[in-house]
Amino acid sequence: MIYDYLVIRFGEITLKGKNKKQFVIKLEDDVRDKLRSFPKLEIKRHFDDLEVKLNGENSNDVLAVLKKVFGIQNISPALKVGTGLDAIRTGVLRVAEQEKSARTFKIAARRKDKRYPIHGSELNQELGASVLKQCGWLKVDVHHPDLPIRVEVGYHEARIYGKEVQGAGGLPVGTSGKVMLLLSGGIDSPVAAYLVARRGSIVEAIHFQSPPYTSDRAKQKVIDLSKKLREFGGKFVLHLVPFTKAQVAIRDAVPEDYRITIMRRLMFRIAEKTALKRGALALATGESLGQVASQTLESMNTINAVTDLPILRPLIAMDKIDIARIAKKIDTYDISIRPYEDCCTIFLPKAPRTRPDRAHAERFERNLAVDQLVHEAVEGIETLVIDDDSNEDALLNLL
Ligand code: ATP
Ligand code: MG
Repeated sequence: MIYDYLVIRFGEITLKGKNKKQFVIKLEDDVRDKLRSFPKLEIKRHFDDLEVKLNGENSNDVLAVLKKVFGIQNISPALKVGTGLDAIRTGVLRVAEQEKSARTFKIAARRKDKRYPIHGSELNQELGASVLKQCGWLKVDVHHPDLPIRVEVGYHEARIYGKEVQGAGGLPVGTSGKVMLLLSGGIDSPVAAYLVARRGSIVEAIHFQSPPYTSDRAKQKVIDLSKKLREFGGKFVLHLVPFTKAQVAIRDAVPEDYRITIMRRLMFRIAEKTALKRGALALATGESLGQVASQTLESMNTINAVTDLPILRPLIAMDKIDIARIAKKIDTYDISIRPYEDCCTIFLPKAPRTRPDRAHAERFERNLAVDQLVHEAVEGIETLVIDDDSNEDALLNLL
């Protein structure tokens, strides 16, 4: 490996005007935190980038971690040389020789120090000619090169970059407040968690379980999903709600076709209380318009009515096939398709009402001790913190 550095670029953060510094400092903290297990690294913050000096750490391992940090637009391996033309030329040739699979290249040189005597375009020509002479297998392609070699001449040193790797994008976690996400064991809600976290939110999850009707396997599945989601944020907080009593009460008091609606109204009330306790300003779900009976506009309208909190639905306009593609990318898909019983499926009719009405829902709830059921469920919540090397035994009970 010829590269001594990885250079991290921020992307959208650079649009943040006066807040930029704050965002970059947060990103730097995240990067340091995620790279804790590489003791030899040195990390430095510059105005336009973060520089990670490898000091012998394996760059692929470090890259694999960085690719999951939100707020990073792209990452380039780099080497540093002096600002003399010969030093730059030697560096460029090392990069060109390293990337053996490339057939075409382009030099993109830039002077940061405008007093530097050789202009960018002259550097491009000079360095390009050297590469052509030395590396017979490479041709110039200025539009779509396999290997764009960027050269940046600074005041005291020049950086030469290898092939850029795409980062996770988005904003650093925590720069957009906290969201309470309703996490089932399905395909959709973990993807929703990922998308909300990517926009800079700290995501805490709340999961409703109805033992003994739902099994430990179902709980395990949600814990495994949380472990995957943790890789993108920092530690991941998961609230497990005992929901059996509420579901039995709904079964006994509510006509079949309204059970899903009432059940979800209770879920939202419980999630809202938990959100407020934990300082979250919004709820989030994995709903997608029209996907199932409870995801029609009428249904969402009737269910939303129980809370004043904004409800984020990042998948609302997405097709299942696109959601599944993201689930595969973030590696939650295989966990989500494990068979299990969801609390949603017990006691529920095969033909739920697709256009539930608010007034009807309110009337049916009069036969239920709603406040009491919500209160008991919230009081019974078990909270797990899923941190770095957590196995189940190490899970901590927070509240
Ligand atoms: P998913 O794939 O996320 O399970 P879904 O297509 O199965 O979604 P529903 O079962 O209607 O759809 O659930 C819609 C949303 O309600 C889910 O995306 C999730 O946010 C929330 N939800 C459903 N069941 C639970 C549960 N047991 N615990 C927490 N949230 C749930
Ligand atoms: Mg589901």
